[in-house]
Amino acid sequence: VVELKDVNKWYGEFHVLRNINLSVSKGEKIVICGPSGSGKSTMIRCINRLEEHQRGDILVKGLALTSDLKNIETVRREVGMVFQHFNLFPHLTVLENCCLAPIWVKQLPRREAEEIAMSFLERVQIPEQALKYPGQLSGGQQQRVAIARSLCMNPQVMLFDEPTSALDPEMVREVLDVMVELANEGMTMLCVTHEMGFAKQVADRVIFMDRGQIMEENEPGQFFDNPQSERTKLFLSQIL
Ligand code: ATP
Ligand code: MG
Repeated sequence: VVELKDVNKWYGEFHVLRNINLSVSKGEKIVICGPSGSGKSTMIRCINRLEEHQRGDILVKGLALTSDLKNIETVRREVGMVFQHFNLFPHLTVLENCCLAPIWVKQLPRREAEEIAMSFLERVQIPEQALKYPGQLSGGQQQRVAIARSLCMNPQVMLFDEPTSALDPEMVREVLDVMVELANEGMTMLCVTHEMGFAKQVADRVIFMDRGQIMEENEPGQFFDNPQSERTKLFLSQIL
């Protein structure tokens, strides 16, 4: 459902993505890791066009991401994204955060949007927080709201960019549990994370990026036990 072919991107002179090739099929779970500045966020953000690539092709469900606004809109409906810093609207309640896009983008009646939102808040186990504001929740709860909010749009693919790295350690587990459940339900997922336990548990493939390139790619068992490149070995020795 997601395909990157020889994708290149520059920030000015800086070549941030170099010939990225990646094909993700339906239901597949990909974990992306790599040192800071290697281009992980940039790559993930290109997939729903929060960033623009300059060369190569990105296709989501066969739709090419170009400057065609209609395609971009369609792709954004299909691709949910969860960020490190939750990005909830602070002046809206949890329920309103979840209903915003279904009402304004999908034109669902408020009643229906609220029902859907409540069902996803139940799935991430915080229905009782629905009428609170994000600022009144813990980090782990806010991140679960962010996940529920994405799911309300019924996405075909979920992108996660270090969803647990801003959380206190005791809240990491509750967010990972939700992600594992989502994975087990068959969601197609691309996750930038250094949670290697999560990678081992759910990933079909782990991708190691360095300096804008995919340096190594393998199923988790091989990736962790038998890394091929020196860069990967060094990286793993630093995070494990
Ligand atoms: P981290 O693990 O720290 O999140 P990352 O792998 O996600 O790192 P990116 O955020 O994709 O890395 O950034 C890749 C490189 O591109 C970095 O060197 C960064 O400084 C640079 N970069 C990112 N965004 C911009 C921007 N808007 N303009 C210019 N350079 C940028
Ligand atoms: Mg990043």
